[in-house]
Amino acid sequence: MLYRDLGQTGEKVSILGFGCMRFPTINGKDDQIDKEKTAKMLSYGIDNGINFIDTAYSYHGTDFNKGGMSEPFLGEFLSTGYREKVLLSTKLPSWIVEKKEDMEYFLDQQLKRLQTDHIDLYLLHSLKEDYWKNLTSLDVFEFMDSIQSDGRVKYIGFSFHDELELLLEILDSYDWDVVFTQMNYLDESYQSGLNGLQYLSSIGLGNVVMEPLRGGKLVNNVPPEINELWNTAKTKRSNVEWAFKYLWDIEGVTSILSGMSTLDQVKENIALASNGYPNSLTKEEKILIKEVSMAYKEKKDIDCTLCGYCMPCPYKVDIPTCFKEYNIAKMLDNVEASSMQYFSLLNEENLASSCTDCGNCVNMCPQRINIPKELKKVKKLFGK
Ligand code: SF4
Ligand code: SF4
Repeated sequence: MLYRDLGQTGEKVSILGFGCMRFPTINGKDDQIDKEKTAKMLSYGIDNGINFIDTAYSYHGTDFNKGGMSEPFLGEFLSTGYREKVLLSTKLPSWIVEKKEDMEYFLDQQLKRLQTDHIDLYLLHSLKEDYWKNLTSLDVFEFMDSIQSDGRVKYIGFSFHDELELLLEILDSYDWDVVFTQMNYLDESYQSGLNGLQYLSSIGLGNVVMEPLRGGKLVNNVPPEINELWNTAKTKRSNVEWAFKYLWDIEGVTSILSGMSTLDQVKENIALASNGYPNSLTKEEKILIKEVSMAYKEKKDIDCTLCGYCMPCPYKVDIPTCFKEYNIAKMLDNVEASSMQYFSLLNEENLASSCTDCGNCVNMCPQRINIPKELKKVKKLFGK
């Protein structure tokens, strides 16, 4: 395992962080974590060098507006002797903070759920313009000062899903320690992108990367023409390795968060992280990554990362699954297989055809997808 400085905090974190939003579950139910399998994955990860664990109030729940099961499970797990071995990060659910006292309420709940007296890194979750405006109107600055001075939180940061201009505005407003941004080789010009990342590095802030595999799209159901391109490389690498190596090659990247779901993934990723040196890709390899990125973009249709922030839909449409099956159909040019999957996974009320166009989900998507409009495409492809 390699380690990098977490900005100017004095901490060194593993270049692979454990994202706690995609643990294995029982019967595919997101709020039922398979505790035995997950504990094995976490202990293997920490025993083999991962010292950075990231969760959030809402992870592993059925409703992103409520507390999920990731934090309570982690609390149980870390209390078995692992708490002091990791830098623990969690996030304030920005979108459900309505009044000043809510921020205290959530932090208090999170400390209890995580069975700890302090959180190492506390982030304002998924900042976008409207969440940021709301938080500043509730004097989030005073809240952040107080929780650091009374020792409940060591370092402060935010996770970000918006454009560069807003990133710069937020950076200017407070003395932050760490920022999480979305980045992978498809997203150089997306949201704050590569420019944002380079700026964070230039001002010495820790920069943690989210969505390194773009919600798994860079490694699952990879189209044959993409694999053919990778196969032209002199040094053969797995698709995961290409994606991770691209990021670790960038000096300003502190760590990448991987939401691992199996022990094999943990093992594979840890092995890769022992070789994630900056500036280690050859010129030819960098050109190949650009070619792959362009080839993907030609096939891209709905840009969903399956994050689930748009859920729940009041009419029960399962938005991420609708988009997932639609994209797989497009990428693999196989409507029949995806259609079978779509109708077997979803009840009638969860289908794209149940969307009433109410617009409730429109501002929830960090990828700025026009969800009702895109659902019409899903309905057209698969029918009712
Ligand atoms: S627009 Fe459609 S998908 Fe979005 S919340 Fe309304 S019914 Fe659900
Ligand atoms: S539509 Fe947007 S918010 Fe919903 S799962 Fe996809 S990326 Fe996330």
